[in-house]
Amino acid sequence: MDFKLTKTQLLQQELFRKFAETEIKPIAKDMDEAEAYDMGLVAKLQKAGMFGIPYSREYGGQGADVLTYTLAMEEVSKVDASTGITLSVHTSLCCPCINEFGTEEQKQEFLRPLVDGTKVGCFGLTEPNAGTDASGVQTTADKDGDDYIINGTKIFTTNSGFADTFIVFALTDKSKGPKGMSAFILDKDMPGLTVGANIERMGIRAASNCEVAYENVRVPANRLLGKEGQGYKIAMTALGGGRIGIGAQSVGIAQGALNEALAYVKERKQGGKTINKYQNTQFKLAECQTKVDAARLMVWRAATAKDNHENYAPLAAMCKLFASEVANDVTRVCVQLLGGYGYCREYPVERAMRDAKITEIYEGTSEAMKMIISGAMKV
Ligand SMILES: Cc1cc2nc3c(=O)[nH]c(=O)nc-3n(C[C@H](O)[C@H](O)[C@H](O)COP(=O)(O)OP(=O)(O)OC[C@H]3O[C@@H](n4cnc5c(N)ncnc54)[C@H](O)[C@@H]3O)c2cc1C
Repeated sequence: MDFKLTKTQLLQQELFRKFAETEIKPIAKDMDEAEAYDMGLVAKLQKAGMFGIPYSREYGGQGADVLTYTLAMEEVSKVDASTGITLSVHTSLCCPCINEFGTEEQKQEFLRPLVDGTKVGCFGLTEPNAGTDASGVQTTADKDGDDYIINGTKIFTTNSGFADTFIVFALTDKSKGPKGMSAFILDKDMPGLTVGANIERMGIRAASNCEVAYENVRVPANRLLGKEGQGYKIAMTALGGGRIGIGAQSVGIAQGALNEALAYVKERKQGGKTINKYQNTQFKLAECQTKVDAARLMVWRAATAKDNHENYAPLAAMCKLFASEVANDVTRVCVQLLGGYGYCREYPVERAMRDAKITEIYEGTSEAMKMIISGAMKV
C-alpha cells in the first residue's frame, strides 16, 4: 500500500493550490456577500482546464485520474467551498452521466464542450417532493413522435443559474416508478425551461442553486441517455462517484479553516503570551489535524478504488459521511479558537463553518450514507 502521491499528482496539487490562492481566495468573501458566483472566475476555471480534470484527452479533458480531481476539490474548497460545489456538480454529477452512459455521438456533441471548458453543466434530480427518496421523482417525459415532452419542477439544481447543459431525470413510464425513470440532456435555451432565482442559503452562498421549471420542453430522442428506464441507475451511479468529490470538498473546508486558525493562534496574545502556547490550543489543533488527515485518506482510498474500477460506492459513502462530520467538527473548533473574531464575517473561519453544514446534506444526507454503508455490510 502506497500512501504517496506521484510526482505528477504533486505537481498538479501545487498548480491547483496556486490557482486557488491567486484567483479564488481574493474574491471568495465578496462572492459570498454578493450571493453570486463571479462569471469571470468561471471563465478562468474553464481556461485552466478545471472543468475537465478526470476526463479523457480524447474528448478535450485533462486526462487525469479521480485522485487528482480530489486534490483539485480540496485545494479550491480550502479557500472557497462555493467553487468546490460548482466544479463538483459539473465534473462528478453532470459529466459522468454522459461519459458513462452516452453514445459516442453524444460524447462528441455534449461531453466534449463540457470537459474542454466551453460549457458548464448541471444535474437535476431532486424535486420538491423527491429528495432522499429520489425514486419519488414526478417530472414526466411523454413520447411525442420522435421527441419527448418534459414537464415538472426540479429544486436545488446547482449551477443552474449559468449552466449550458442540464441533465434531467423524468418518468417515461409512470406505472413503473424508478424503473420508469429516464435521463435526458437538455440545453439551457430550450423553450419551456425556466430557471428561478438563486435560493437564499446558510452557506456556499456564492454557488448558483435554483428551482428549475420544465413546461412542455420538447427534447429530441437523440438526447435520451442510455435506454428508457435507465435513469435511476444513471443518477445513482453519478451520485455514487460524486460523493468522493464532496468528501474532498469537506476535507478542503476543514483544512482551510485549520490553516487559518493555526496562523491566528500564533499572533493572538492573551494572558501575556500568544494563545498557541496554551495546551488546550495545541491539543485542539492536534485533534483537528488528525481528523482531517483520516478523512483525506478515506477520500483518497475511495478515489483510488474508482480509478481501479473496484466497487467504490460504499467507500465513497463512508468518506462522505466521515469527512462531512469532520468538516463540521473542525470548523466549529476553529471558530472557537478565534474567539469573538471567529464569529465575525471578517475572518474566513465564519464562512467555513456555514459552508461545512451542506456537506452533511447534499448528494445524500448522512442518514442516507448510513443506509448505503449498512446495506453494503448486509446488516
Ligand atoms: C445547496 C444545495 C445544493 C444541491 N444541489 C443539488 C443538485 O445539484 N442536484 C440535485 O438533484 N439535488 C441537489 N440538492 C438536493 C439534495 O441532494 C437534497 O436536499 C438531499 O438529498 C436531501 O433531500 P431533501 O432536502 O428533500 O430532504 P429529505 O429527503 O426530506 O430529508 C429530510 C430529513 O429526513 C431524513 N430522511 C429522509 N429519508 C429518510 C430515511 N429513509 N431514513 C432516515 N432518515 C431519512 C434525511 O436524512 C433528512 O435528515 C442540493 C441541495 C442543496 C441544499
